[in-house]
Amino acid sequence: MTSTARPFLNRRLAEFGTTVFAEMSALALRTGSINLGQGFPDTDGPEEVREAAVRALRDGRGNQYPPGPGVPELRTAIAEHQQRRYGLTFDPDTEVLVTAGATEAIAATLLALLEPGDEVVALEPYYDSYAACIAMAGAARVPVTLRPDPEQARFRLDLDELRDAVTDRTRLLLINTPHNPTGTVLTREELTAVAELAVERDLLVVTDEVYEHLVFDGAEHVPLATLPGMRERTVTIGSAGKTFSFTGWKVGWVTASPGLVSAVRSAKQFLTYVSSGPFQYAVAEALALPDTYFDAFRTDMLAKRDLLSAGLTEAGFAVYRPAGTYFITTDIRPLGESDGYAFCRSLPERAGVVAIPNAVFYDHREAGAPFVRFAFCKQKTVLEEATERLRSLAA
Ligand code: PMP
Ligand code: GLN
Repeated sequence: MTSTARPFLNRRLAEFGTTVFAEMSALALRTGSINLGQGFPDTDGPEEVREAAVRALRDGRGNQYPPGPGVPELRTAIAEHQQRRYGLTFDPDTEVLVTAGATEAIAATLLALLEPGDEVVALEPYYDSYAACIAMAGAARVPVTLRPDPEQARFRLDLDELRDAVTDRTRLLLINTPHNPTGTVLTREELTAVAELAVERDLLVVTDEVYEHLVFDGAEHVPLATLPGMRERTVTIGSAGKTFSFTGWKVGWVTASPGLVSAVRSAKQFLTYVSSGPFQYAVAEALALPDTYFDAFRTDMLAKRDLLSAGLTEAGFAVYRPAGTYFITTDIRPLGESDGYAFCRSLPERAGVVAIPNAVFYDHREAGAPFVRFAFCKQKTVLEEATERLRSLAA
């Protein structure tokens, strides 16, 4: 059945169209450009982790539906990781839930916790699935804009704006640190203010910490759940995709108190029920890797950040050197440009490179218009070639 009288897509999703990542990756493919748009590494993660997945497949572990909450080995490994890194104690049976990537964790959490009409205060620019999932839950997003601070050379949170955004309808604060796309790592001071506000106004906090292992220059990743009053009201979201460079495996997780995990599980069971069977066993082994793995991963990404930052600066961009994530947000105004979307659409033709216009992550599009994001989770030779090509912009 087709209908011309009314569009098929419902009103809640009508504004979203196709995700910018699919659009820009297709553009890269079509034009043969270097894809510094969608954030995925161009080399796979550790060989022993890949082998662990092969072993699980061969041994028939996870080839049939795994348990709804996730396999016990992985839930235990997630809990141990939180304990070892942050001193947070979670019961693997009641306080950990495995999901189909962080994407499903975000969806299930928001669908489980929000009533239609609730407000969600989220940091803008925000990862695109936040807005869509808030909409699917029938709730309303209230953006608090991270603004560039020239003195600190970073995007920062205005704590007064955050306080002002909270109303009687606010149900939860949706935080992301390290932050995609700005590369900002929220400071302990900023996060303490978030925590105090949550306690004062009795709000839940959902915190997306998928880039927890990608922090540079002595920046500190402070899990919100470690702050006073937060352990019981925080849903923390993690993902193996970023930390172990297996974004296609789609293994993510939620850690929270039993009541919150149980609520999220209620939604999750009707989204995918379960996913990623054999990969769950492999990620359990990955999380138990020694610190040397995590250190080497960070050091490697740091070198790539520096390489691409230098190249972008040379090409004429103003660069916000990220303290975390594998993205660099740039300002294109020094190049005489002001519309990031138009710039990104023309970049394949002008320089054979694809990037992401940050404007798509904003409700206040004009606030994001001049910013463009480049991913540096690529091989050194690819980044060198990209910077060589981008040099033509300066000419
Ligand atoms: N949150 C943020 C901030 C992200 O950048 C991404 C993209 N990787 C996700 C969530 C989704 O993660 P996953 O691939 O595990 O679904
Ligand atoms: N998180 C990745 C990014 O920000 C993309 C993931 C996706 O394509 N949904 O680029």
